[in-house]
Amino acid sequence: MSRIAYVNGRYLAHRDARVHVEDRGYQFADGCYEVVAMRNGIFIDAALHLQRLRRSLAALRIDFPVKDASLMVVMHEVARRNLVREGFVYLQITRGVAPRDFAFPSKSQPSLVMTARSKLLVDPKLMASGIKIITIPDQRWARPDIKSVSLLPNALGKEAAKQAGAYEAWQVDRDGNVTEGTSSNAWIVTKAGEVLTRQADQGILNGVTRLGLLRVIAASGLQLRERPFSVAEAKDAAEALLTSSTNFVVPIVRIDDVPIGNAKPGPLAKKLAASYVEYAATGGSDKL
Ligand code: PLP
Repeated sequence: MSRIAYVNGRYLAHRDARVHVEDRGYQFADGCYEVVAMRNGIFIDAALHLQRLRRSLAALRIDFPVKDASLMVVMHEVARRNLVREGFVYLQITRGVAPRDFAFPSKSQPSLVMTARSKLLVDPKLMASGIKIITIPDQRWARPDIKSVSLLPNALGKEAAKQAGAYEAWQVDRDGNVTEGTSSNAWIVTKAGEVLTRQADQGILNGVTRLGLLRVIAASGLQLRERPFSVAEAKDAAEALLTSSTNFVVPIVRIDDVPIGNAKPGPLAKKLAASYVEYAATGGSDKL
């Protein structure tokens, strides 16, 4: 099947989809993005993704006067044209094309690009084995809460994980606390049964899956605290897990080669993963 991309109002063959060499996204990573998961043809928490997109755009002062409803129409159309029922839509907005200059152009038309890809969001193999992760220093800029396309440290971190035979890398701040994964949020379950995840401050991206899982946890009556946790605490935890739109909830069984629990997916992680699948089945908390 030939893939289709959406570029500034046009649906193009993926191989022919292009933006200009002076697009500020290309030259300065001057833009932001969202990855919105779809399962059984239903977008999961699309409203939360678009809310976060608006927040990122506002933080970067990119003026994007297109209504959410119009974006949703294109998102559905890109998914449909790519025959995606389970997978994701990638959406990127940059400040647009302008002669290269660090300062913002006085006038530019933001570029909007969307692609879609089929992907299994709950991989039975990963769920059965759990995953291994490594830890790395968090070398990103000070505003990872903005979902900007400036992802070089994340890419380097993911490559380091791959080289180590791991699935993800947890980034660690100067105080020795875990911030988040390169493309996922980080969670542990303490030996006392408390679920911990870092509070959504400027140090992490407030994951939409994170928000969904927080709702699932609130409804389940589990003990939860949003606070920083150290690498030492994580290695001593009963369970560990990660969340992201493209993988939902995945149990972690090793951190830097240290086994977590009995090095098998933990009972709570498995339960939360199953509950999140149920939550996502109806589009999450979405009403769009
Ligand atoms: N943290 C980072 C740095 C990410 O890049 C991502 C997703 O790409 C996440 C967390 C998870 O966010 P979400 O659940 O919205 O996919």
